[in-house]
Amino acid sequence: MKYGFPDQPGFDRQRTQFLHAADAAGATVTSYPHPLKGPAGESLATDVAWLGEPDARRVLVAISGTHGVEGYYGSTCQSEWLDGFSARDLPDGVAVMMVHLINPWGTAWVRRVNEDNVDLNRNYVDFEAALPPNPRYETIHEIYTCRDFDGPQRRHADALLTAQIESIGWAEYHAIVGAGQYVHPDGLFYGGTQATWSNRTLRSIAARFLLPTQVAIAFDLHTGAGAYGHPMLMAIAQTRYAALADAEALYGAWLYTLLTGADAAISDTGVVARATGYTSQALLDALPDTHLMQLVIECGTYAEAPMHTALRDDHWLHLYGDPGDALGKQISQTLFNSFMPADEDWGEIAWQRTRQAWERALKALPEIRPAAVG
Ligand SMILES: [Zn+2]
Repeated sequence: MKYGFPDQPGFDRQRTQFLHAADAAGATVTSYPHPLKGPAGESLATDVAWLGEPDARRVLVAISGTHGVEGYYGSTCQSEWLDGFSARDLPDGVAVMMVHLINPWGTAWVRRVNEDNVDLNRNYVDFEAALPPNPRYETIHEIYTCRDFDGPQRRHADALLTAQIESIGWAEYHAIVGAGQYVHPDGLFYGGTQATWSNRTLRSIAARFLLPTQVAIAFDLHTGAGAYGHPMLMAIAQTRYAALADAEALYGAWLYTLLTGADAAISDTGVVARATGYTSQALLDALPDTHLMQLVIECGTYAEAPMHTALRDDHWLHLYGDPGDALGKQISQTLFNSFMPADEDWGEIAWQRTRQAWERALKALPEIRPAAVG
């Protein structure tokens, strides 16, 4: 890899290398400035690189950083792949659109959530309608709001957590907490009460660039769920949709389809099936006239228990701690490495599978013939 996965967080480095790779490939970049700053006072933005003819109607889309900290994987893959187009051409009529760090605040501050403590992948819901209830979260909320990082309250919260795990097991516990909740802004997996900056920005990007698209294959890039070193290609949606069969034919056994909803069975993928508000569904809703294959690449890292501890500590840090002091930096670095392992072999496999998925999509895009397109 030319760029390589980073061993330290840093928004400016990721953005600079992305803009450089986009420029080298001859892409057109449109920037969406974010209202807040990063921890070093740096300006934040989501950048969209469009490579290919402006009126191309077949588009490969990749979105990084829906969960901010996971953007270090996605951003690096985007730059790496874009850079390769400085030396080769796209198929006729096909464009590549890279949405770089849709939750730039989360990437800069090394957080999964955004500036409102919102999990963006729970935020793409209809806020005009009743929000999804999660009454079982009420019994565990206090585990995530204790004021001690290391003291009697933390030990009390740890005991509550242990009792829950012993009673219902990790899978069921994870399904409850991961289903998301819309009641406690200071809780875990909070979905918000309105569309966040990232949500509004993604919708305006889709409206501006993708509405006329006939065929699109889109990838939302994640890490942190599933088995270590196993990048998983997934289709996540609330119901089966027209283009899904094409995606299944294109990727065969590589593709794992996950249908989500409040009554879904517990998934063995590490991705929570009972949650709603995923990016995947948002794009399907935003582009009703596009033959859209909406996919997710999820690169597995560590087991659920240590991942949960890292998220819980980071949650404490931003409720009560100081991200700038020694403990804060240690917690942030642990979270960073939880989603971006300091392991070249992990990185090599993550990059290889991501590149393979994109190459197969690029090759297929000129050939896909949805009935409506002819
Ligand atoms: Zn994620």
